[in-house]
Amino acid sequence: MKFTVTILGSGAATPTLNRFPTSQFINCNERNILIDCGEGSQIQMRKFRIKFQRINLILISHLHGDHYFGLAGLLSSFVLLGRTSKLQIICPKGLKNIILSQIEIGNAKIPFEIEWQEIELKERELLFEDKVLEVYGFPMNHRIQTHGFEIREKKKARNFIPEKIEELKISVKEIGAIKNGEPLIREGKVVPQEVYSKDSKRPLSYSFSADNRIKESQIDYFKGTDLLYHEATFLHEDRDRAKTTFHSTAKEVGQIASKAEIKNIILGHFSARYHDTETHKAECQESIENVFCAEDGNTFEISENGVELIG
Ligand SMILES: [Zn+2]
Repeated sequence: MKFTVTILGSGAATPTLNRFPTSQFINCNERNILIDCGEGSQIQMRKFRIKFQRINLILISHLHGDHYFGLAGLLSSFVLLGRTSKLQIICPKGLKNIILSQIEIGNAKIPFEIEWQEIELKERELLFEDKVLEVYGFPMNHRIQTHGFEIREKKKARNFIPEKIEELKISVKEIGAIKNGEPLIREGKVVPQEVYSKDSKRPLSYSFSADNRIKESQIDYFKGTDLLYHEATFLHEDRDRAKTTFHSTAKEVGQIASKAEIKNIILGHFSARYHDTETHKAECQESIENVFCAEDGNTFEISENGVELIG
């Protein structure tokens, strides 16, 4: 089972030769999720060899163009490639009309089912769940309505200890019953589950905070995640610009994330005014040790041992 985050675009506003606008591909236990879809996202997926036909869920944070201008193009490619499987899109109110008008004005039809879920959140809410994961959304602090997302693994069932199955002669039928919550009885007594099974691994989590003027009241949204992506559009010397445009500085992100006890951070959405990200990293590292500055094409793996840049 793996949990990876691939950065397709790490720049802000205008695409540059080195940084495309925001988009990320998440593989959580073979569930494939796209977060935001800036211009050129599908080209980045081809470049980084991502099988984008397998994406079944797309999350769009807000309606600034650098976060969704690639969506109509991606859907159009899905049509041309003969997609038949259902797609779910969770997005702010209004996006469905924008995208469908773009497609229908050219007389095109989408032959596969799209389930649109338009949201307007006031607090953290569960938006999606299946057997292996849950997706939560929460409101961010930006110039227009914006949502952040958390993708969290579901807690798995306990693992049986093979020697104990033999020793206690636990039958297949009994294993089924235990999985349904029934106790194991031997000599008229309940056998504690710790005797024959081990707790499954801790569920892992990734949080994406979109465009956001970070503030203390958001600490609860970030708490408990293994890896937080947060924009650091500006350096602290440009904090006045960060305030007026409802963005954050790398230093501010470090300070709040530290209060939320975050261990691993990815910074991104860098303004094109900066030529490198060394100072962003240093500012954030004043509060948190493990800071990555996103580059297009980076893949991060989240595991019980922490977060590692694997590509
Ligand atoms: Zn924005």
